[in-house]
Amino acid sequence: MISYDLRGKAALVTGGASGIGLATVRILGKSGCKVAINHLADDARGPEQVEALRAEGMDVISAPGNVADPEGCATMVEAAASAMGRLDYLVCNAGTPGTRTSIAPHELDRMTEELWRNVLEVNLLGVFRCAKAAAPHLRAAGGAMVSTASIAGLNFPGSSPAYGASKAGVISLTRNLARGLGPEVRVNAVAPGAVNSTWQVDWTNEERSMSIEKAVLKRRCEPEDIADAIVYLLAGAAMVTGQTLVVDGGLSL
Ligand code: NAD
Repeated sequence: MISYDLRGKAALVTGGASGIGLATVRILGKSGCKVAINHLADDARGPEQVEALRAEGMDVISAPGNVADPEGCATMVEAAASAMGRLDYLVCNAGTPGTRTSIAPHELDRMTEELWRNVLEVNLLGVFRCAKAAAPHLRAAGGAMVSTASIAGLNFPGSSPAYGASKAGVISLTRNLARGLGPEVRVNAVAPGAVNSTWQVDWTNEERSMSIEKAVLKRRCEPEDIADAIVYLLAGAAMVTGQTLVVDGGLSL
């Protein structure tokens, strides 16, 4: 893992109190970066993680807010940037599969309007809303943003076709935000494969072992594997913009 000296920088990580978001917060925090941890207002993991990370010496604050709520999202970004005095890095990581069990492409009846609205609001519009609110701060800082897409947004079946479409949207939006926010701000995405997180609680043993067997590197990604790539795209990768980096151990090859 590459280490960075990010003292004097400030970051906002959406969905930062668990999984990939929390692993990203930890790398940034250990590198000296101030971090605002976004979480849903009623998610107790937010204040718990802030307390735990502060006890480890990291400079973190809580940034409660729902990225699916247009006004709430903008207010949350503004409050985080103002509390930290600047915003160099934005990580748009909050996401939902919208379903506890996977929906195959032929199961059209299970793809309800509600599912579509939920995944698009959180996974795609949430990214745009955060980017829009953060843009003046990122421009002023000459910063960078990274979104968490998925191999489901490329040519791989995800938890549902609606989820896949939301993540394909993130990949497209990443290119356009890179065009729109450059030259001051670099904009990239990561596309994880199967990650060892709470999402797999309801997976069958067969689904779990398939995700390992099919991967060229013969293991599932840990949240830290994805966080490592996110921080590289934020703080390294000086000439990389508009790109989506697949981090899946070769699952989608
Ligand atoms: P996770 O459930 O631990 O993380 C998602 C976080 O987003 C949670 O903390 C959740 O509370 C938060 N969140 C959900 N809706 C929100 C909203 N409306 N506003 C604010 N926060 C909200 O799971 P994870 O695996 O760490 O997922 C992180 C990202 O990685 C997601 O965007 C997901 O789509 C993507 N991803 C995950 C996998 C996987 O296998 N787990 C694979 C590919 C991509």
